[in-house]
Amino acid sequence: MMLSTLLSKKLNTCIVEQNSVLGEKIRISGGGKCNITNLHVSSNNYLGDSEFVKTVLDRFDNSWLLDYLSSHHLIPVLKKDNCYFCKKSSSEILDLFHSQMRDIKKISNTRVEKVTKKDDLFTIQTDKGELRSLKVVIASGSKSYPRIGGSEIGLKIAQHFGHTANLFEPALVGFTVQPEQFWFKNLSGISLDATAIVDGKRFSGALLFTHKGISGPLVLNLSLYWKKGKIEFDFLNGLPYSKNLNLPKRFLKEYLESIDGDDRHEKLKGLKSYSFSPAGNFGFSKAEASRGGVCTTEIEAHTMQSKIVDGLYFTGEVMDVTGELGGYNLQWAFSSAAVCAEHLN
Ligand SMILES: Cc1cc2nc3c(=O)[nH]c(=O)nc-3n(C[C@H](O)[C@H](O)[C@H](O)COP(=O)(O)OP(=O)(O)OC[C@H]3O[C@@H](n4cnc5c(N)ncnc54)[C@H](O)[C@@H]3O)c2cc1C
Repeated sequence: MMLSTLLSKKLNTCIVEQNSVLGEKIRISGGGKCNITNLHVSSNNYLGDSEFVKTVLDRFDNSWLLDYLSSHHLIPVLKKDNCYFCKKSSSEILDLFHSQMRDIKKISNTRVEKVTKKDDLFTIQTDKGELRSLKVVIASGSKSYPRIGGSEIGLKIAQHFGHTANLFEPALVGFTVQPEQFWFKNLSGISLDATAIVDGKRFSGALLFTHKGISGPLVLNLSLYWKKGKIEFDFLNGLPYSKNLNLPKRFLKEYLESIDGDDRHEKLKGLKSYSFSPAGNFGFSKAEASRGGVCTTEIEAHTMQSKIVDGLYFTGEVMDVTGELGGYNLQWAFSSAAVCAEHLN
């Protein structure tokens, strides 16, 4: 959607979408209010090739995005954790796109199944017939939330053309727990602020206990970087241990019961460094993003064009770049689309 609004009207552009409407992920994003971007955006907020990400963000960053939105009378509001959201609802950004896309041809309810190329011409095979085009931009996102269109087609198309791709895996998703942490499940509905370190990265934020395991912003960020092994939680959230613990009573009770031994004081000290190995995660149906995607070493960072096939482009989450929680994934989708549009224009 961003790409098509930025493309020159002289180009003959057409969007093929399997859903009946465009932008379903934007509609449900940020709890329906769309966390568009963040006050602080850098390549450090992404899992992926940081040079590639930096090149894209250096060209079109969060200030560019905020300027673009405000030039169309959308002024996002800055909320908790430096996140920019739509004022009332994600329909504000969808309405903006739709108003800018009036002249763009859209073919909805149509699933792309395959893309091939002969001489200079691409053939896009869909479940409704074929289209031909001189250029193709794959903006098909990731496998997350299959019920609203999450798919792997982008990887299939890329691989067909000889691209390397890392399989999608759920990211920004809750963790399931091993038997040692089944006590977490007794705390379903309770939330507390904690700190944790994974793969050398430190995150703070809300940890939410659920009937399946743990979730909440802190855990979603951890899931982006966790591959296997232990994660260390500081349930005191960076504060030194003292006898006045500001933690939910039910949590303390379950925690103390879960640890062997009689020395309450020693057990409580362990709140600062609680080791935990997730069993797995809640899967694609609950994952706000997927890590993995088309390898960026085979994509030109200044154009988003394939280094293997002329005229083939990639934007957004289909590439092997995944952002942390906080508006980074939409920023990535919009920035990479802007780089691509600039080149195509
Ligand atoms: C619940 C949820 C909340 C989120 N909240 C936020 C947030 O607040 N902030 C943020 O930055 N990010 C958020 N994200 C992530 C963000 O929505 C995505 O990273 C972003 O939408 C990716 O943009 P994209 O254009 O690459 O792909 P998408 O927005 O996923 O668009 C891809 C489109 O391609 C279509 N498609 C797929 N396969 C086919 C096919 N075979 N044929 C035709 N069409 C096809 C899909 O139906 C879809 O409409 C959230 C994600 C989820 C699931």
